[in-house]
Amino acid sequence: MPRKGSKKPQETVRQCANIRSKKHPDARCPLAATQGEFCARHSKKPTRFQEQTTVTSPLTKKQLDSVGKLQRWWRRSVGLIRYRRQGPVTNCPEAAENQQDVYTMESTSTIPLMYRWSYVDTKKHFWIFDVRSIWMMRAHEQTTNPYTREEIPEYAMATFQKRCTWLRKRKYCLVHTNDTAEMSAEQIWHQKVLDTTLKYDMLGYHTSLRWFEELNVQQLNLFYGELWELWFYRLQLSGQIKQQVVPNWNKADTLLFKWNPHEIRNRSDRVWWQKTVLDLLDRFVSSAELKEHKTLGALYGMTAFAIVSSRVRHHYPWLVEMQEDF
Ligand SMILES: [Zn+2]
Repeated sequence: MPRKGSKKPQETVRQCANIRSKKHPDARCPLAATQGEFCARHSKKPTRFQEQTTVTSPLTKKQLDSVGKLQRWWRRSVGLIRYRRQGPVTNCPEAAENQQDVYTMESTSTIPLMYRWSYVDTKKHFWIFDVRSIWMMRAHEQTTNPYTREEIPEYAMATFQKRCTWLRKRKYCLVHTNDTAEMSAEQIWHQKVLDTTLKYDMLGYHTSLRWFEELNVQQLNLFYGELWELWFYRLQLSGQIKQQVVPNWNKADTLLFKWNPHEIRNRSDRVWWQKTVLDLLDRFVSSAELKEHKTLGALYGMTAFAIVSSRVRHHYPWLVEMQEDF
C-alpha cells in the first residue's frame, strides 16, 4: 500500500555525510544515509563533507606528535570497543563459520563495520551478521541461527538489541534498502515500526514486524479501543501510575488518546490507523522516566496486542489468560 505525505526522512534517518557532488564540494548531500554514514549513491566511493572551519594556529611538532599518539591509541581502542560491543569476530569476519551474509548473500567482509554483529554459539563456532539482516529474519519470525537452526543465546540477543539501540540513537538506518538513493515513504515507515519494536524488545517482548503490519482496519480499530479501555477502566490504574507510565497523558497538547474510540469508529484509512496505533504503542514505552514504568507500559501495549492478534496470543498466551482475571 503506498504511503503518502510522510515526513522528511532526516527526522528518522541521519543525513548523508558526503559532499553534494564534485561540482559542489562546499555543500552536503541532502539525501538520507541509508547505508550507514552515506546514501546509496555515495556509499561506494565516499568523499566526506567538511564544514568550513578556520584554523587558528598551526600545530607545533610536539603537538603533532601527541596528536599522532592519540590517534594510534584511538584506533587500537576502537577495535577493542567493537569487539566488546559487536562480538568476537567483528574485526575479522573471515574467522566466522559463515562467509556470506544471510540476507544479502554478499561477503561478510563487505558489511559496513557499524552494522556488523557476531557471537559465539554453544559449540564454540563464530557467526557474523549484518544487524539489518537479523531484522529481516525476525520480520519472518525467524529467531534461530539460519545455519544451525539453534536458538541464538539470550546473552547474544541482548548485545544485538543494545547495538540496535546504539545505532538508532544516532539515527543510523536499520532497514535494508536497495540501491535507490532516495528513501521511500515505505522504508521510512518500516524504520518507525522497527524503532517501536526495538523498544518493546529491550523491555522483554519480542515481536515481529509482521504481526503489526498484517493487522487489518477492524483489528486496528479494536486495538485502539482495547488500549483505551485498559487504560481508563479495565486495569483500574491509579492517577499516579498513569502519570508515571505516560507523564502528561491528560494534558491538552500531549493527550495520549486524542479520540474517544466511538468518534473514530468509522474511519477506514488503514495507513491512518496504523500510524495512530503505532504512536500509542510507542508512547507507552518511551514516556516514563524509570524502566519499571516503561515495562508496565509495554505490558499494557502487549496485552491489547494479544487481544487483537492471534500470533501475539500464540507467543504470549499468559497475556490473555491474565486478562480473564479482570
Ligand atoms: Zn549522498
